[in-house]
Amino acid sequence: MRTRKPGGGNDMVITSAPMNRKMKPIPCILLVLCIFMGCMGDVPPEMNEAEIQDGETVSQETELSEQYPECDFHEDDPPLPAEDMSITVIYDNNEYDPRLETDWGFSCLIRGCEKTILFDTGTDGHRLLRNMEKLDVYPGEIDVIVLSHIHGDHTGGLATVLRKKSSVTVYVLQSFPFTFKEEIREYGAEVIAVSNPVRICPHVYSTGEIGELIDEQSLVIRTDRGLVVITGCAHPGIVRIIEEAHDLLQTDLYFVMGGFHLHDTERTRIETIISDFERLGVQYAGPCHCSGNTARELFENAYGQHYISIGAGTVIYLREME
Ligand SMILES: [Zn+2]
Ligand SMILES: [Zn+2]
Repeated sequence: MRTRKPGGGNDMVITSAPMNRKMKPIPCILLVLCIFMGCMGDVPPEMNEAEIQDGETVSQETELSEQYPECDFHEDDPPLPAEDMSITVIYDNNEYDPRLETDWGFSCLIRGCEKTILFDTGTDGHRLLRNMEKLDVYPGEIDVIVLSHIHGDHTGGLATVLRKKSSVTVYVLQSFPFTFKEEIREYGAEVIAVSNPVRICPHVYSTGEIGELIDEQSLVIRTDRGLVVITGCAHPGIVRIIEEAHDLLQTDLYFVMGGFHLHDTERTRIETIISDFERLGVQYAGPCHCSGNTARELFENAYGQHYISIGAGTVIYLREME
């Protein structure tokens, strides 16, 4: 086992930071819809389509092609030393650290890159903050927030985090509703709407918006051992995502973790997916969130010591992986 449970920590009482203007929760109706639809279903929020069609909304987006005109997916810089990296799972429906609250959703913090990145924000912001406190994760250290997809179990905690730290850059998908992006801006945060693959900071990339029914972006970190890929729900298909990450960066896959969305998938199909992982040379696998118990068991059987057991409170230090 290459994960560690941090010790100590007490419960905390959440108090919202004083607000000097009216704070609106990030589109309440949308989030309620998202939570109901969640990752258990495969139906995208209907209201997205209508809002995205608003031409005015698109013109106000930060265009990534302008912001990163020299985006280079084959950096000359040496890759990030994996030794420096850690991934703290703050929010997950699988149990790990008994001090933490488990709940349907996903969120993790990536440290060791140029930017400290919060990937997804779970379902409930206050629960997220309570778990963060116990894990010695501070909202103030977050530079970047990446939202994998629109579902409420990945975006529900965003407003609560932004109340604690508004000077962040939030990477959403281009297809997110305009109102959702505007709410983020009202907190003072910068919004970057991702369509194509982009570089977030040295060694860290978004796959860009992948999928047909439910669009999603995944995080890819280029380390000296290969790629670390973190997925939210993997709605477009976990194998498709890691293949695209590999093609994008032309680098071997080292560690794939996050929601693999296999909770309703037949055993034989999961076995095929594990074969695909092995074919693609994935050295470590850490399915959590919507991966389902069957997939977790099958991955554990296949990967043995290279299976990373992940739940709420798992802290993965890459220096402890061979
Ligand atoms: Zn989902
Ligand atoms: Zn999910």
